[in-house]
Amino acid sequence: MSPGEIKTALRDEAARLGFVACGIASAAPVGEPSASAFRTWVEEGMHDCMAYMAANVDKRLDPTLLVPGARSVIAVALPYRPKTFMPSSSLQLSCYAYGKDYHDAMRARLALLMGHLGKLCGRVVGGRMFCDTAPVLERYWAWRAGLGWMGKSCNLIVPGAGSMVFIGEIVCDIDLPPDSPMPPRCGNCTACLASCPSGALCAPYRLDARLCLSCQTIERRGALDPATVRCLGNRLYGCDTCQTVCPWNKDAAPTTVEEFTPSDELMSMTPQDWERLDEEHFRRLFKGSAVKRAKYAGLMRNIRAALHGDCGDGCGQESGGTL
Ligand code: SF4
Ligand code: SF4
Repeated sequence: MSPGEIKTALRDEAARLGFVACGIASAAPVGEPSASAFRTWVEEGMHDCMAYMAANVDKRLDPTLLVPGARSVIAVALPYRPKTFMPSSSLQLSCYAYGKDYHDAMRARLALLMGHLGKLCGRVVGGRMFCDTAPVLERYWAWRAGLGWMGKSCNLIVPGAGSMVFIGEIVCDIDLPPDSPMPPRCGNCTACLASCPSGALCAPYRLDARLCLSCQTIERRGALDPATVRCLGNRLYGCDTCQTVCPWNKDAAPTTVEEFTPSDELMSMTPQDWERLDEEHFRRLFKGSAVKRAKYAGLMRNIRAALHGDCGDGCGQESGGTL
């Protein structure tokens, strides 16, 4: 098979596995201005408590340091937009966390895709698979590989699927014809910037994680900043506002990935149920879920913040709250 035929057959297999987009970029250092923008973002401390973003910057800016001999980056997008959303009367979990842990769903499919690539090439593929598991500038590679464009919200937007997608990559030693990056299609829209409740989208394409409710409710350990609590609203874990207001998400197709179907129990949790959540119930409710990342203590901190405006710093000072 020619490299072009291999690429076509790989795309077909990716679609069969449930990916809504699959594209190729040549493995090389991250180009400008993306590399400088990332360095500046870290130097200005905008990554906040995500210390891993400031580690291994050189590797993050050059996948050939992570995978010696790499020739191509195969980027894929797995959709997670749910068919139905949690009732607005309850506390809100980010849609990405409705179902099972995306790392597992992505890893299983990437392994199948990599195995298929080996069959198409007639040899063992040298390379590694990634999904939020190593220093890889994932949205950049998804954009380079032609999956979508970088929205002003800093989310990758895939035509037809919107921004509710998980990104994964196979960095491998196979030479495949690269795709062209997609030009931005945000136009004059600024809905995400105008709707961000905390001002974390401080400019187009610029996200300050110190203010982002998603970062703060998921990544931060210990007490929440009172400023975070004041704009938390009924968010329990993560924040989807910059995505739900985006016109490109309006008609996006819901996911068909079985693992992302939420349980009936999760979807029917009331504020009172959340408040009464004990550790055993937490473990059962979030078995195999990415929410475990926040741990029981972190989730209860968020619940108390959303319901009672409690920062979780032990002083009992309240900053608002939804009840
Ligand atoms: S996730 Fe929420 S807080 Fe963070 S940038 Fe988007 S709208 Fe703002
Ligand atoms: S809300 Fe508008 S500006 Fe923001 S990412 Fe979507 S299209 Fe772009």
